[in-house]
Amino acid sequence: MALIVQKYGGSSVADAEKITKVARRIARTKNQGNQVVVVVSAMGDTTDELIELAYRISETPDNRELDVLLSTGEVVSSTLLAMALHHMGYPAISLSGAQAGIRTDSVYNRARILKVESRRVVKELERGNIVIVAGFQGITDEMDVTTLGRGGSDTTAVALAASLGAEVCQIYTDVEGVYDADPRLVPEARPLAEMGYEEMLELASYGANVLHPRAVELGELFNVPILVASSFTEKPGTLIHGGVSMEVREKVRGIAHNLDVAKITVIGVPDCPGIAASIFEPLARAGISVDTIVQNASIEKVTDLTFTVTTSQLSRAMEVVKPIAGSIGARDCVSDATLGTVSIIGTGMQNTPGYAARMFNALSEKGVNIQLITTSEVRITCIITEAKVKDAVRALHHAFEIEIEG
Ligand code: ADP
Ligand code: ASP
Ligand code: MG
Repeated sequence: MALIVQKYGGSSVADAEKITKVARRIARTKNQGNQVVVVVSAMGDTTDELIELAYRISETPDNRELDVLLSTGEVVSSTLLAMALHHMGYPAISLSGAQAGIRTDSVYNRARILKVESRRVVKELERGNIVIVAGFQGITDEMDVTTLGRGGSDTTAVALAASLGAEVCQIYTDVEGVYDADPRLVPEARPLAEMGYEEMLELASYGANVLHPRAVELGELFNVPILVASSFTEKPGTLIHGGVSMEVREKVRGIAHNLDVAKITVIGVPDCPGIAASIFEPLARAGISVDTIVQNASIEKVTDLTFTVTTSQLSRAMEVVKPIAGSIGARDCVSDATLGTVSIIGTGMQNTPGYAARMFNALSEKGVNIQLITTSEVRITCIITEAKVKDAVRALHHAFEIEIEG
């Protein structure tokens, strides 16, 4: 008898009929003699709708209240799924994140899981129940409800799988696995059979929202195999695990894109020690995460400093940076919210020259202007105008297609 964690995303439980279908899939896994823990997302676009509702009430909704509000979406779907299983004659119980022992820090809207106290889940499994856990939420030491950031139900699932020692964490979604590019943008994109954690983490962190990046991090840390597959078909899906051999690794494995990118440039910054810290420390204190940072070589002891944030954090970031720019004697502080990124990713690229040049050529042939470039050992990212992202992803998929394994 194996213990399996399954997670069903919002589109998989979007209405009563789909919930019943998901219940049948869960029942099948139970019938095969497994213990089953299910993590569920909110139905369809519920989370978006709740956020919209909150912003109709106030332009600056309180973060604590917002988290309690958003957590209700997953509570609704978990109870309905338990009811569907009861209706089919299966013992099942729904648990909120708090009841399931998902303990987090107190950073509302993007809390991190500190530990999973899985006693209650284990007790319910021992009683023979299928345990349905509301994803995306946890509880602080003060018993306040938190949420884990958009897409966070994946992380709930992998955290539970790690803590329970599950054989596998299965993430069921509306596509047939992890593709070599977002299938919504690239119709020719193909699902990959398997992937290493490192490549998957880069793909997820740079925009492939088929998996929450922190779910991949936890998977790697606790060596939990993660299967990404379709809720609607029987296709095998993509297995993310640690055993992918170097030999089968292709050079470019996937292309990721992100439309949620904004840039701030502090112009004419005096080039002296402490300046970068005086800008980035207050940003960190304000809970703003900065991604790419580029500083130009200084001319006559003056330089420009550019960095990127998400578009939703841009206005807060500008509120923090503008007064600092004034106080350090910078000439100006400007922003651009209409940016995106495209990335090529693959562990096989390390130590192999020529990839950057091929990427830049493919982009220039499509008339895409590159504003900033960042790299890791297994990734090259170009920051470009948002309007060109779709063309850029397609051009890159085409340029590197021959290397991508089917
Ligand atoms: P769920 O609601 O099941 O969590 P998400 O919408 O969060 O589903 O994630 C699935 C979506 O991720 C797909 O519909 C697809 O458009 C998008 N996506 C982006 N990049 C990729 C990729 N490389 N492979 C597969 N899907 C991707
Ligand atoms: N419902 C949440 C969201 O839409 C969490 C999730 O689906 O993973 O972001
Ligand atoms: Mg998701």
